[in-house]
Amino acid sequence: MQHINMLNEFKLIINGQSCLGEAGELDIINPATATLAARCAKASIAQVDQAVTAAKAAFKGWQRCSHEERKSILHKIADGIEKHAETLAELIVLEQGKPLALAQMEVQGAIGWTRYTAGLDLPVEIIEDSEQKRIERHYQPLGVVASITPWNWPLMIAVWHIMPALRAGNVVINKPSEFTPLATLKLCEIIQQEVPAGVISIVVGDGEVGEALSSHPDVQKVVFTGSTRTGQHIMSGAVKTLKHLTLELGGNDAGIVLPDADLDQIANRIFDMAFLNGGQTCAALKRLYVHESQYDALAQKLADIANAQVVGDGMAAETTFGPVQNKLQYDKVKALIADAIAQGAKALSGNQMLPEQGYFIAPTILTGLDDACRVVQEEQFGPVLPILKYQSIDDAIARANASEFGLGGSIWSQDLKAAQFYAAQLQCGTVWINTHAEVVPHAAFGGWKMSGIGAEFGLEGLLENTIGQTLHINKN
Ligand code: NDP
Repeated sequence: MQHINMLNEFKLIINGQSCLGEAGELDIINPATATLAARCAKASIAQVDQAVTAAKAAFKGWQRCSHEERKSILHKIADGIEKHAETLAELIVLEQGKPLALAQMEVQGAIGWTRYTAGLDLPVEIIEDSEQKRIERHYQPLGVVASITPWNWPLMIAVWHIMPALRAGNVVINKPSEFTPLATLKLCEIIQQEVPAGVISIVVGDGEVGEALSSHPDVQKVVFTGSTRTGQHIMSGAVKTLKHLTLELGGNDAGIVLPDADLDQIANRIFDMAFLNGGQTCAALKRLYVHESQYDALAQKLADIANAQVVGDGMAAETTFGPVQNKLQYDKVKALIADAIAQGAKALSGNQMLPEQGYFIAPTILTGLDDACRVVQEEQFGPVLPILKYQSIDDAIARANASEFGLGGSIWSQDLKAAQFYAAQLQCGTVWINTHAEVVPHAAFGGWKMSGIGAEFGLEGLLENTIGQTLHINKN
C-alpha cells in the first residue's frame, strides 16, 4: 500500500477542483499500529464558504437535470466505485481498522446502495383532477445539503447521505470524520468525474469545520450520523435558518432472548450482530437480556465464540477482529469494562494475545452485572457485550425500553408469533426477530427518542431530501 502514503494524494474537492487545505494537513493514524498512515489536506473556514458558494451556483443547473440523466450519472458513479473497489477497501482498513473482508463488504454495500438509489422515482401525487382544476403534489430538491459523517463505516455512511441527496437534485458538501477521511475523499473524487463542478465538494477538518458547514446560512439541509451530543449541537445551529435535518444518532439496542430460543442456532448470529465492526456500529446489539433458565449456557457459548477470534491488523489474512478506531474510543471502552469489573462483573472472554501496538481490545463478554452499570446504561460503541438476566418477559421489555435511546431492538425465539407480539412493545425505530443490525436499501431506517430524527433509505429516505410542493392548475 505504498501509494497510499504519498502525502499529496488526499486533497479537498471544492468547485470541481482538487485543492490543498488552507489550514494545513491532518495526520491520519492507522489504528492497527497507532502510527501515521497518511496526511490529508485540512480545510479552513474560508474554504467551507467557497464550497457553499460553488454549491449554490451548481444547484441551478443540477436541479434542472432530468431524472433520467441523474439516474444514469448515479449508475456511472457506481461503476467508478466498482472500478476502484480494491483501493477503497484498502483505504478503509488503513484508516478505520476493520478486517479486509468486512471493508470489501462495505464497498460492495456502497455500490449496491448507489444503484438502488439511482433506480428510485420521486412520486407525483394527483390530488384532484376535475373539469375546472388539477391539483398535484410534487417533490422538489432543497438546495445545498451538508453531510457530516462518522468514523465507523466511513464509505458506506457517506454513500447513504450523498446518493439520495444527489438523486433528488440537491448539491452536497461532505465533511468526513477527521479520523477517517481517506476513503470518502476517494469517493468524492469518483463522483466528481461524473458531475458538474460544485455539485459535490468535500472539506476535511475537525468539529469547527463541521460546525461552520452545518450552521451555514446557505445550507438548506444537514444529514448527520454520529453522537447524540453533536446531533443536538447541529440541531441548535440549524434553528436560525430552519434547516431540514436528518439525524442518525447513537443507540443502545437491547436484544431479548425468549426462554424457548434454540441457543445453538442463535449464538453465532448474536455474536456477529453485537460485535459487528468491533461493536462500532450504531445499531449493533449492545445489551443482551437472557432468561435465567438459559443465561449461563448462552453466555458460555458467546464467550467461546469471542475467545476464538483472531484479533489483529485488518490487512492480515488470519484476522477476524480489528482494533477500535481511535485512542479516545479505546480509552472509553477500556474504562467501561474496568468499571463493570470493579463493580463485580465477570469477563468470560477477552484473554487472547493482542498485538503490542494499536488500539486492540479483545471481544469481551460480561456477566453478573445489573442494569445500573455504566456499560449497560451508556452506548459502549466497542467490543463489549453485557449479558443481563431476567425472570419475566414483561420485565425484560420494560428494562429494554428504559433507555434514552430508541434506535433498534431484537427478539430471539423459535415462536415467531410470540416474538412479533413482544417486538411491537419495543420502543425503537427498527425491530428485528432472530437477527439484529441488518439494514437494506429498500427499508426505511431511523431512530426514536434520542436516537434521531427522520429516516434514511427507501422512498422515505429519498423524500427527506425534498420539499413537498403543491401545484394548483386552474383549467378555465
Ligand atoms: P461525533 O458525533 O463527535 O462525530 C461525528 C461527526 O461529527 C464527525 O465528522 C465529527 O467531526 C463531526 N463533528 C464534531 N463536532 C461537530 C460540530 N460541533 N458540528 C458539526 N460536526 C461536528 O462522534 P465521535 O467521533 O466523537 O464519537 C463519539 C461517540 O459518538 C461514540 O462513542 C459513539 O457513541 C457515537 N458515534 C455514533 C455513531 C453512529 O453511527 N451513530 C458513529 C460514530 C460515533 P470530527 O471527527 O472531525 O470531530
